Amino acid sequence: MAKTALITGITGQDGAYLAQLLLSNGYDVHGLVRRSSTADVNTARLKWLGIEDDVHLVDGNLRDLSGLIRTVREVKPDEVYNLAAQSFVKSSWQQPILTGEVTALGVTNILEALRLEHPEARFYQASSSEMYGLIQEPEQSEATPFYPRSPYAVAKLYGHWITVNYRESFGMHASSGILFNHESPLRGIEFVTRKVTDGVARIKTGLASELRLGNIDAKRDWGHSKDYVRAMWLMLQQDTPEDYVIATGRTTTVRDMCAIAFAHAGLDMDDHLVIDPELFRPAEVDVLLGNPAKAREKLGWQAEISLEEMIREMVDADLERYASRSGRG
Ligand code: NDP
Ligand code: GDP
Repeated sequence: MAKTALITGITGQDGAYLAQLLLSNGYDVHGLVRRSSTADVNTARLKWLGIEDDVHLVDGNLRDLSGLIRTVREVKPDEVYNLAAQSFVKSSWQQPILTGEVTALGVTNILEALRLEHPEARFYQASSSEMYGLIQEPEQSEATPFYPRSPYAVAKLYGHWITVNYRESFGMHASSGILFNHESPLRGIEFVTRKVTDGVARIKTGLASELRLGNIDAKRDWGHSKDYVRAMWLMLQQDTPEDYVIATGRTTTVRDMCAIAFAHAGLDMDDHLVIDPELFRPAEVDVLLGNPAKAREKLGWQAEISLEEMIREMVDADLERYASRSGRG
């Protein structure tokens, strides 16, 4: 019999790629969607992948426990992937309370809905490498202590530990994936990779002349969302729920990532890049580098798409977006 999955955050980058993966594995896929007046825009990623009509969308919000209980009662999912969050670090200083309500307490809401209605479901929590923040070890593994550096990271740390706690308290099959940054053509435009590839496409097509960035010395371990959603699924196929670091094991500066994008478009980065002090953060995560050894050994998982391939794919997708816009006049 086909398995049933419930994805919170299905309209986001990972939600869309995960839905695509689960559909191709024969799942019946349900997704929680925040009601808004722009439903057509919200489902743009599912449309981009051509799967909008293949998933069941249900109105809901991670802050609304009664709605979550109702959804779990109706869907009775075999697997729940909790990807919904206020996910942008910089916004979390502007909206710290909302970030806490959704990204932290929202995890307890969905766990409570499962505990009350369907405790046998397997649960995945989208934890984040941002929890390492001010890094305590040069390479971060499952054993590395956390030191969050933003309201977002503090909220994610709560979500991580409440997942561990429900596993230990109630024996739930709850796993947490500590995912390092991962990107794709479907990445939100506010994140630095997509801001860069979109900016390069705008410069290439004559719509802009400069690209303004903040701290380009920051280093991240960047992978591709398509690879990372496969790791989420693999975690829930294990007999025992555990936590895993998902990363490439390579770290790169924002500057060098940016250079790949400009070079791919045949542009000279020095002619266009402007450093804007306004874009620096109140507290920075200078460098992240993950050690994915456990995922490799236990899940047989490793990243397959390189940073270079991914950035080129993103630049091409953004160039295509602008070409088709001008084509429509
Ligand atoms: P996105 O920002 O693209 O997607 C976030 C999703 O959460 C969207 O579908 C959004 O809906 C939904 N959402 C936000 N608030 C609520 C709410 N109150 N109730 C219900 N849904 C809500 O994130 P990604 O796909 O990139 O990331 C997926 C998850 O993984 C997030 O939890 C993120 O924090 C985490 N993560 C991501 C990493 C990355 O590098 N991408 C790294 C580590 C962790 P809407 O479309 O309506 O805004
Ligand atoms: P994060 O790791 O989840 O915060 O992912 P981001 O893609 O938002 O940021 C990655 C790094 O790029 C951080 O260290 C930022 O400070 C740095 N960065 C430099 N300029 C920018 C910018 O203009 N926008 C964003 N989003 N990040 C920037």
